[in-house]
Amino acid sequence: MNAEQFRQRLEAFVEAQIRDQVAEWEAGGRYPATLHREAGEAGILSVGMSSDDAPCAPLDAGLMRRAMLIRGLARGGAQSIAVGLGSHFVPLSAVAGGSKECANEIAPSIWNGTHMIALALTEPHGGSNLRDIRSYAQRDGSNYRISGEKAFICNGTRAEYLLVSACLADSGPSLFLVESGERVRKQPLVPLGWRALPQAHLTFVDAPARLVGQPGSALRLLRPALALERVNLAVLAITSARLLFDEMLADACMREIDGCALAEKQAPAHRLACSATQLRIVETFVDALLTSFGEDGAPAMPPQTDIAMAKNAATRLLELVAREAVQFAGARGCVAPSLAERMFRDARLLAIGGGSEEVMNEIIVRDLRRNHAESNR
Ligand SMILES: Cc1cc2nc3c(=O)[nH]c(=O)nc-3n(C[C@H](O)[C@H](O)[C@H](O)COP(=O)(O)OP(=O)(O)OC[C@H]3O[C@@H](n4cnc5c(N)ncnc54)[C@H](O)[C@@H]3O)c2cc1C
Repeated sequence: MNAEQFRQRLEAFVEAQIRDQVAEWEAGGRYPATLHREAGEAGILSVGMSSDDAPCAPLDAGLMRRAMLIRGLARGGAQSIAVGLGSHFVPLSAVAGGSKECANEIAPSIWNGTHMIALALTEPHGGSNLRDIRSYAQRDGSNYRISGEKAFICNGTRAEYLLVSACLADSGPSLFLVESGERVRKQPLVPLGWRALPQAHLTFVDAPARLVGQPGSALRLLRPALALERVNLAVLAITSARLLFDEMLADACMREIDGCALAEKQAPAHRLACSATQLRIVETFVDALLTSFGEDGAPAMPPQTDIAMAKNAATRLLELVAREAVQFAGARGCVAPSLAERMFRDARLLAIGGGSEEVMNEIIVRDLRRNHAESNR
């Protein structure tokens, strides 16, 4: 399947299986788990691992190909579904970095949608510092057992595989693969946004676990995976902003107030122009990241600083456009189901999940200081 065939297949899947159901799933608090099987059968989940990492990946090219999945799903109008269906290659790539054998074993069932994998890193006391992990693992014969708590885990109530960070007695955080079972207690959470994506608080009670990679290697394995997640979230934010802006523009051109279209009145028209300008700038920046990296001969990943800038810029822009969209729609934008109302709630989550705005700024400013010191040496 080449990139164009993949794009068409994805678009057809979103039209047939997602777009018209979104409002109902958001109101009901979950999309059906069977959607993974249907997406797997449609061949749209088999994306995102290089052929070095695992066999049978029909789409193994650069960042742009991986971003196609999240972009195509986001155009369906629900960030919750895009994250739910389109994030599996983030934990999978971390597993592949630690153990190709383990990745090869679990990837086929994730790609065909019979199993889900969730990334379980954040703990209730705080998630920004990935070193500050209280969950711990103990040896149990040739394997391990994990105890501890993880919070805000997407698809945590139903993922069969959980990629968990925990500390061994004599090393820093390590990654473990846990198969969900009776030793993993799951408490559903009700999030501000992404309402169709079940989130969970998980408690591990001596849960059997498999070490992925070397003891103490969690941060090394997670670095490229989290970079991939942040690129994903930047793409999700900018795609959502474009979708919402286009709807807002169409509505403002059509809606008549005092004898003329809302988009013809000077103040709203200028606000549309400002949003359109910002949108074009950030789209260009995100596109440049996607097209310059990961293809043959190019570095696999953009610099962390560029990724952090892309995530923050796209997220802030989505927040701005979402505010404008609610304002333009008036009270209609304040009640569900409406794209503006949903995006307004969803946008807040993107500034926190996957590394908060402040943590992204820390990455950016660290680089600025380093460059300044080097240029003054
Ligand atoms: C919608 C959503 C989905 C999520 N899904 C998952 C998931 O599937 N798996 C998972 O493991 N986690 C998940 N998370 C958790 C997410 O990774 C964390 O929310 C994030 O890492 C921030 O951690 P925290 O929320 O605990 O905030 P904290 O770390 O407690 O931080 C609180 C505040 O302090 C600020 N802060 C923290 N450190 C610094 C610093 N050094 N300098 C300046 N300010 C700082 C933060 O920016 C934030 O504003 C999800 C979160 C959300 C919102």
